[in-house]
Amino acid sequence: MSDTLLSVQGVQTYYGNIRALAGVDVEVKKGEIVSLIGANGAGKSTLMMTICGSPQARTGTVTFDGEDITRLPTHLIARRRIAQSPEGRRIFPRMTVYENLQMGASLDNLKYFNEDVEKIFTLFPRLKERQSQRGGTLSGGEQQMLSIGRALMARPKLLLLDEPSLGLAPLIVKGIFDAIKKLNQNEGLTVFLVEQNAFAALKLSDRAYVMVNGQVTMSGSGKELLANPEVRAAYLEGG
Ligand code: ATP
Repeated sequence: MSDTLLSVQGVQTYYGNIRALAGVDVEVKKGEIVSLIGANGAGKSTLMMTICGSPQARTGTVTFDGEDITRLPTHLIARRRIAQSPEGRRIFPRMTVYENLQMGASLDNLKYFNEDVEKIFTLFPRLKERQSQRGGTLSGGEQQMLSIGRALMARPKLLLLDEPSLGLAPLIVKGIFDAIKKLNQNEGLTVFLVEQNAFAALKLSDRAYVMVNGQVTMSGSGKELLANPEVRAAYLEGG
């Protein structure tokens, strides 16, 4: 049995004639936290979405848990237990916190529903306090917690996080990243995250990839990339 959970090979993704991913190779092993850093417009969100099947890769393959999922429709990819907290969080603003969590639950897991909600409330006690409040009235950090919590309700094998730190104050980012670390350490959850906050992402991650113009230009352990002069100059200093 291979320890590779996700393997992206030679993936090219287009929006019409615009090539957003120009042959991307990325691998995530079971139990790892891997991040993808890069500037605005590099193609990070496109890679996340391509993994989830919308848009689909034009060439190349996405393999998950040994299965080629490149051409599967998104709902079947979700059933393989890949869950995403998308860019901008996309919670349901008029639903309560509790209802948002219900929306994330999969029919396959209903017998675990109460247990799963309790776990999320233990991880993010703020959500428990605010369970009857509408999502749209939460702070940015609380909405991010809710977006992650909603994704966790699917009991994912792989959690995809698109810019979890976006627009949040450093202390709040620390809280969110500590929670991700806890999920990884205590539950063995595999995480692939996209971040513009390179410092926070590299500190958290076992390994990371740097993306420029739709291509991976560098990879290494979080520590190696934190110490890499090119990475420091482009993404860490003055950032
Ligand atoms: P950001 O942090 O701003 O989200 P990113 O690294 O996630 O940046 P993408 O959003 O994946 O980058 O965008 C990659 C490229 O694809 C950019 O040039 C962007 O303009 C283009 N692009 C993204 N979405 C679309 C779309 N729906 N239609 C056409 N072009 C798009």
